[in-house]
Formats: sequence, C-alpha cells, structure tokens
Amino acid sequence: MRTVRPKKALGQHFLRDMDIAQRIAGTVDVRADLPILEIGPGTGVLTQFLSQKNRELKVVEIDNESVVYLHENFPALNVIEGDFLQLDLNTLFDGREFVLTGNYPYNISSQIFFKMLDYKELIPCCTGMLQREVAQRICSGPGNKDYGILSVFIQLWYDTEYLFTVNENVFDPPPKVKSGVIRLQRNSRRSLECSEALFRKIVKSTFGMRRKMLRNSLRQVYEKDSPLPADCPYLDKRPEQLSVEDFIKLTLMVEGKA
Ligand code: SAH
Repeated sequence: MRTVRPKKALGQHFLRDMDIAQRIAGTVDVRADLPILEIGPGTGVLTQFLSQKNRELKVVEIDNESVVYLHENFPALNVIEGDFLQLDLNTLFDGREFVLTGNYPYNISSQIFFKMLDYKELIPCCTGMLQREVAQRICSGPGNKDYGILSVFIQLWYDTEYLFTVNENVFDPPPKVKSGVIRLQRNSRRSLECSEALFRKIVKSTFGMRRKMLRNSLRQVYEKDSPLPADCPYLDKRPEQLSVEDFIKLTLMVEGKA
C-alpha cells in the first residue's frame, strides 16, 4: 500500500495513536448540528473517525502526495487540494456555519487562528491539536505567564478550553515539543463597543512591553498627550493583569468614550 513520506516543510507529523485520534475527533460533537472542515488530514488518521459521524465533512490538504493517498483510501471523501490560508470560507458550505478541526500544521498554527477570527461569524466552534505552548497561550487567563496577545485576541470572541496534552512519541516523526488539544466556542459577544483595530493596537503595544506598567507603555504609543484620564484605574497595572473586558474599557477611554 502507498505511504506518504513526511515532509518537514509542511509541518507533517502523522499521529499514530488511534485512541488519541478518536478522542480528538470527539471534540467536534458539541456542535453535532454543523458540517465539519478538517485542515491537513494527511493520511486520514483523524478523518476516519470524523467521517463516521454522518455529518457533512470536507478536508483541505496542501500536500499532493497526501491527496492521492486520501483519494485511494477514502474514495467518498470530499477533498479540497490547496492551502487553507488561501481558501474562501464564505462559499465552502454555501455560506453555512461549520466546525473547524484538525491536527494542525504547527508551522502555521497562529495564522490558522487569525484566519478563524476573520471568519468568526461562520465558525462557532473550532477544535484540534497544535503545539502545547500555543494551545496554552490561547487558553490562558489574566495573571498567567502564558496570557498574552493571542489569548486576548481570541478570548474577545471565543470561550476557550484546554482539553488534554499529547506526548511527542505518538507521532511519526515525533515533533520537538508536546502538543495540546483545545476547543473554542463563540461567546455571546456579537459586536464590540470600541474600535477593534485600536483594541488590537493597544493589546499588542502593551504586551510588547510586558513588564512595564501601562502608564509607561501607553506613553510610548501616544507620546506625551496620552488621552487617558488621570484617574484611569489601569495606569499602575501590567498588561497581564487586565482581562478582555478591561482592555475594552481601556480602549474606550483612549477613544474618549469612557
Ligand atoms: N492530520 C494528520 C496530519 C497532521 S500533520 C495526522 O494527524 O496524522 C499536518 C498536515 O497539514 C499535513 O498533512 C500537511 O500536509 C498539512 N498542511 C500543511 N500546511 C497546510 C496548509 N496551508 N493547508 C492545508 N493543509 C496543510
């Protein structure tokens, strides 16, 4: 039988443990009403369990060798050959919402989650495996050392759960780091009171000077005439002490709306 030679440049680490594959596939069951898009099926380790769920399923795979393998071994599977980052998600399921999942290519995991944010109204649920460090960053809250830009950007729109850790030795070839499985579900926020562009700018610039109090990090962004009121409660705090709600309030203050 044909096999696929793992290619480092495509972040290919094939999962060999079927129990773990089944558990990961189970993470999409919270939204059993929706179709599924799997990123990077490779040789279909996760796909075989997803396809047993009697739900509409599409997979997107960039590697031609894997695509040929999938056609041979899963003839009924709907395979899109191409780059997820280039894929138009609006027309994918005729504009319907879907669940995003996969054992993601770790080299582009942040980009995958930024794209998810761009399409958040179509993706009420996103689950899957990625490098543990990034998984922890996505799911951490204020006060935690992993809490940062990615946490705040994603938690603005999604509730996050860190589900479980997966060891290196269940992959071929083993990755250098441990992996984490997560589940994100859209929270109840439908719109943002402040400018999202300004919100992102403030989050990025304050976490860029993580050890500095906001009084100092904001001064570097807004130079002398900081638009913050003198009684702003955040001036003596570090960014890791601010919740998503605090960052929204801070942005409103900078906009002069609070
Ligand atoms: N799901 C499989 C493979 C995981 S490895 C398993 O668990 O064994 C990551 C997979 O993502 C590889 O198959 C790789 O070819 C694919 N991939 C890498 N970059 C991609 C991209 N931009 N778009 C779609 N698939 C991609």
